[in-house]
Amino acid sequence: MHLGAPIDAPATIADSILAAVRKVVPAERGSVALHEPEFRGREREYVLDCIDTGWVSSVGAYVDRFESMLTEITGAAHTVATVNGTAALHVALLLAGVRPGDEVLVPAFTFIATANAVSYCGAVPHFVDSAADTLGLDPAALDEHLRRIAERRGDALVNRDTGRVLRAVVPMHAFGHPVDVDGLLKVCGRYGLPVVEDAAESLGSTYKGTHTGRFGRLAALSFNGNKVVTTGGGGAILTDDLELGRRAKHLTTTARVPHRWNLSHDVIGFNYRLPNLNAALGCAQLENLPDFLRRKRQLAERYAAAFETVGEADFVREPANTRSNYWLNAILLRREAAPARDGVLQRLNDAGLMARPGWCLMHRLPMYEHSPRASLPVAEDIERRLINLPSSPALV
Ligand SMILES: *Cc1c(COP(=O)(O)O)cnc(C)c1O
Repeated sequence: MHLGAPIDAPATIADSILAAVRKVVPAERGSVALHEPEFRGREREYVLDCIDTGWVSSVGAYVDRFESMLTEITGAAHTVATVNGTAALHVALLLAGVRPGDEVLVPAFTFIATANAVSYCGAVPHFVDSAADTLGLDPAALDEHLRRIAERRGDALVNRDTGRVLRAVVPMHAFGHPVDVDGLLKVCGRYGLPVVEDAAESLGSTYKGTHTGRFGRLAALSFNGNKVVTTGGGGAILTDDLELGRRAKHLTTTARVPHRWNLSHDVIGFNYRLPNLNAALGCAQLENLPDFLRRKRQLAERYAAAFETVGEADFVREPANTRSNYWLNAILLRREAAPARDGVLQRLNDAGLMARPGWCLMHRLPMYEHSPRASLPVAEDIERRLINLPSSPALV
């Protein structure tokens, strides 16, 4: 059966994108995941050491070592390992002063954990737009939105539409690409809004030579199974503030008052500590971080080259002034090709290549549909056009 040109077009777009991906991931590779962990270092040795010594749980030398390795890599003054990245973000927000009834500005284009961590504090996420070049929070759009809705009342910055206090801003470095940090700090500084970075995806990414997670008062990292480095499940809080670092450790370890045998606690804390077993895996993974980053960068360069000649889509490159870890490679379909997105996804997945769209925007989810939000033209545009491609370091 012959189909006319307009109906044929989506298939042609899918063909051309599949052909470009195949230049990077040849068919011989078989079925390919979006991002797979890789254990080629001392993972087995360190995990067995935990089992052999009995130190598998909430205390142990690997937790301390994992934290100091992260301190070294990021340059942050204090690192507190946690059971996952969401927990790290939860406690980071509490320490930034987020309280029930507050509002926290977060991008609409993000993973659900960013918004959920705000909700865990009893606060309300307030969604703002992304920038086309970074895919992360847009400082200019934030500024314009705040100018419209924010009002200073005493010490507090208040959303005049809802009457709630605007307590913090949470930028997220999407797929490892750092946001426009200078622009953001300028706007947040002007409004006196503390910044808490969701750096879950950006271990190894830098902005003007400084590691992500160093720009706000606190930051959260994630070591989930699909991240650049994994502990099975895990996260970390970063901060340069000695007192915040101390309180982060205290809050994530049930707020136990240190004593040789007494079990006493001085506030409602959380059992958010990272088990030693997971930290052991993480230590071995971090030893290979430079190699992971090198190969992920090479993979990104291959995709960039393969998509140079594709008229229907553009490869998403690291923003100016940054070095990205290229956690997840992404393409943006050209606007005229955007209606073919689901056809492209189908074609790639049928070919055994795990590809997926970006996140469904937060305000479309039932629990956040009534949350306050700015106009979101760029986030909506990204949502329609973005596709993530297989990004495991093993593909190089
Ligand atoms: C992975 C991730 C987190 C944290 O995830 P956990 O699975 O809890 O470690 C938070 N925010 C973003 C944007 C993420 O991608």
